[in-house]
Amino acid sequence: MRRATVPEADREIGVRHPVLTHGFVALVDYMGNDGAIVQAGRVSYGQGTKSLRDDRGLLRYLMRHRHTTPFEMVEYKFLVRLPIFVARQWIRHRTSSTNEYSARYSIVPDEYEIPPAEEVRHQSVRNRQGRGDPLPADVVDRFRTDLARVATEAYAAYTRALQAGVARETARLVLPVAYYTQWYWKINLYNLFHFLSLRLDPHAQEEIRLYAAELGKLARLVAPVAYEAFEEFQLDSLTLSRREQTAFRALLDGKSPVEACGAAGLPLTRDDGQPMTTGEGIEFLEKLERLRALGRADGQP
Ligand SMILES: Cc1cc2nc3c(=O)[nH]c(=O)nc-3n(C[C@H](O)[C@H](O)[C@H](O)COP(=O)(O)OP(=O)(O)OC[C@H]3O[C@@H](n4cnc5c(N)ncnc54)[C@H](O)[C@@H]3O)c2cc1C
Repeated sequence: MRRATVPEADREIGVRHPVLTHGFVALVDYMGNDGAIVQAGRVSYGQGTKSLRDDRGLLRYLMRHRHTTPFEMVEYKFLVRLPIFVARQWIRHRTSSTNEYSARYSIVPDEYEIPPAEEVRHQSVRNRQGRGDPLPADVVDRFRTDLARVATEAYAAYTRALQAGVARETARLVLPVAYYTQWYWKINLYNLFHFLSLRLDPHAQEEIRLYAAELGKLARLVAPVAYEAFEEFQLDSLTLSRREQTAFRALLDGKSPVEACGAAGLPLTRDDGQPMTTGEGIEFLEKLERLRALGRADGQP
């Protein structure tokens, strides 16, 4: 039996896709493709399935009904170069295998991340973890200059320590999280979809989203039909809580969004009457806005 290959993915093996200033994502290897998922799905449902559903239909059925293990039949191995502050978020995804460059064994290269000026912005008022409005140019410049100075001084201290005989595992303590690390990362498609659904989300930090976007492009090459089903039923889908369903019914009955939130117990104002900027009610309005934006993209008024 011959190993399943995907020519589009084979052409990408070892190609480094740049991310940020010094980072990249490269597909090192993969196992399986859409066919492997279909094959596993048919083991569950029997040969008769073939006549009932085509492969695309079966993949979409599996995704829709959260029949997850067939998607685990596809595996990816990536080589990734990324700043330590991104790596700290990434490594939280436990359902993957990582092997990292050892700064105990090797010398850390003098490469650090300075965000482009447009990415140095105010603290967001809506998302406490995120960034929001633009900052004055002098504030942006000062931050970027400070970051470069701190990194340069830190690397000078690192070099001094190494030259004085301090062990590499100890000397590295002076380096900031803007410095880069590198790792092999292996994950199956089911877990990669989970990673992507969290890290392509607008609530995730911009820098890790850029990496997720590159991973997504490579994942799609290997299993395009599964990826399409992921976009359809997970990434671009909307879920409605019980209260949101009540609010949605009120909208269908002709109520305004504010009235619908009131009817469903989705708060939009605080006890002191001030408008809320976060919370379930605001998130429901954001979902409605997302739907409206989709309608506009489709050419609807
Ligand atoms: C926008 C955003 C903001 C975040 N902010 C913070 C923060 O402020 N502080 C912080 O600490 N983290 C934060 N995180 C990290 C987050 O809490 C998760 O640790 C991370 O996203 C990994 O998700 P996961 O556990 O689902 O993934 P994985 O570790 O890949 O696990 C996948 C799934 O496997 C199951 N699983 C794995 N291990 C266990 C286990 N031990 N017990 C039970 N089930 C398990 C769960 O179903 C889990 O969803 C943030 C993440 C995002 C996306």
